[in-house]
Amino acid sequence: MRLEPVIGLETHIQLKTKSKLFCRCKNDADDSSPNSVICPVCVGHPGVLPIPNEQAVRWAILLGLALRGTITPHSKFDRKHYFYPDLPKAYQISQFDLPIMQDGHLDLDVPGVKDPVRIRIERLHLEEDAAKNIHGGDGKTYVDYNRGGTPLCEIVTKPDFRTAAEAKAYMQELRLIARTLGVSDGDMEKGHLRCDVNISLREIAEDGKPVSPHLNPKTEIKNVNSFKAVERAIEYEIKRQTRLWEQGQIPQITTTRGWNDAKQVTEDQREKEDSADYRYFPEPDIPPMELADLSDELKNTLPELPRAKRARFIDEYGFKPSDAKQLIEDPALSDFAEQSLSELQAWLQARPDIDPDESEMARNKLTKLVSGWLLSKLTGLLVERKIDIRIMKISPENFAEFITLLADGKLTGQSGLKVLGKMLDDGSDPSHAMDDLGASRVDDADALLTILESIIKANPSEVERFKGGEKKLIQWFIGQIMKETRGNADPAIASRIIHQRLKD
Ligand code: ZN
Ligand code: MN
Repeated sequence: MRLEPVIGLETHIQLKTKSKLFCRCKNDADDSSPNSVICPVCVGHPGVLPIPNEQAVRWAILLGLALRGTITPHSKFDRKHYFYPDLPKAYQISQFDLPIMQDGHLDLDVPGVKDPVRIRIERLHLEEDAAKNIHGGDGKTYVDYNRGGTPLCEIVTKPDFRTAAEAKAYMQELRLIARTLGVSDGDMEKGHLRCDVNISLREIAEDGKPVSPHLNPKTEIKNVNSFKAVERAIEYEIKRQTRLWEQGQIPQITTTRGWNDAKQVTEDQREKEDSADYRYFPEPDIPPMELADLSDELKNTLPELPRAKRARFIDEYGFKPSDAKQLIEDPALSDFAEQSLSELQAWLQARPDIDPDESEMARNKLTKLVSGWLLSKLTGLLVERKIDIRIMKISPENFAEFITLLADGKLTGQSGLKVLGKMLDDGSDPSHAMDDLGASRVDDADALLTILESIIKANPSEVERFKGGEKKLIQWFIGQIMKETRGNADPAIASRIIHQRLKD
């Protein structure tokens, strides 16, 4: 019997509007004491009226457009009833049959999979977040209403995922889209992005097609709150359900489980309430919303989305796909790369000595230097110094100039790192940093030969061994020259003169 997982995701994204969804309370209570950022509206006192936050509606539409869905022209809010301490009104203002967006999709490039995977999005709706229950060490449960009323976009996919890797890639892409649009920070640790996983197995025939069109009762895994947890929880659940199938205990009813991150298992969970019947009905206090004009307006403001940007970085600049992916992860990083490259393009065009036939090659070389120096070296220095790229002292112009020094061979890789560190520390431009550090490359063969002579004099036994055939000592000699020149010797020239001087 061959089985395949059928997985759908329900994701909640907190929007980072200034105020909450239906009241004027500040929408950022991270540093506030419990129950200090609340008002009669968000704690549901009788007689108060909710007023929808226009920014939240706009951002929900924008996210809906980015997910290529149809914006519902005539939309409304509904009440979803359930009784729980985190919901003071005993209903959540959500959307039932006329969500902001329907029928979208997201194309994913999944690591190790050749073709893009298309995930259909069933709907995106806007709703208010519930309060937070805090289970105290004293056995009591406390409620902090600060979070209550935070705008959430709930995004529900079709059951189109077949692997844990696809689900993880989806979550990562969704977060990147939310960040690109500027609608959420998508910080999973802070609960900005939360995900429930629906998963069941089904039997497939030899040709890979499902034996029956019906889906089996699913298990819903709640509170999966990191990318790693999404992957692990799904892998665990696939194994658990496969075992049940193999024992002939095919799940017959829908169940709810929670992901226990400490134990790395899913655990049976009791249902909150009679969740089958939320007694949805239209929210009588909020008029329906006409969204067609707003949607047309927002369509024109949609920025370049991550997938298109990745493709452009590969096609236009010649970045390796893995480098393009890494650059796009952080809009500040990709902006910096683009600005540096446009400086470098201008520099390249102003060079009469570069043959137009070779300009493509020269450009690729520059792109390679930019990705190498930006992604590993500069990023490393920033992490080391705990500096954010958004506030660092290196401008794209200075970074581009730094790259030209490397490209022209005026600076070696080894000294380059010191120069870059100095640029970062005091904001100096690369040529000044280079002068201050005495980091100009030594490519004068005569000067290097003089240094080599003194090394030969001081190390007769190494010379003997090298001449006797121990050719790998070349690295030791190059190392000595580097030491003498503080890393500024041109390694190729150094290697050549060593070979010439010690050839017999
Ligand atoms: Zn409030
Ligand atoms: Mn929800």
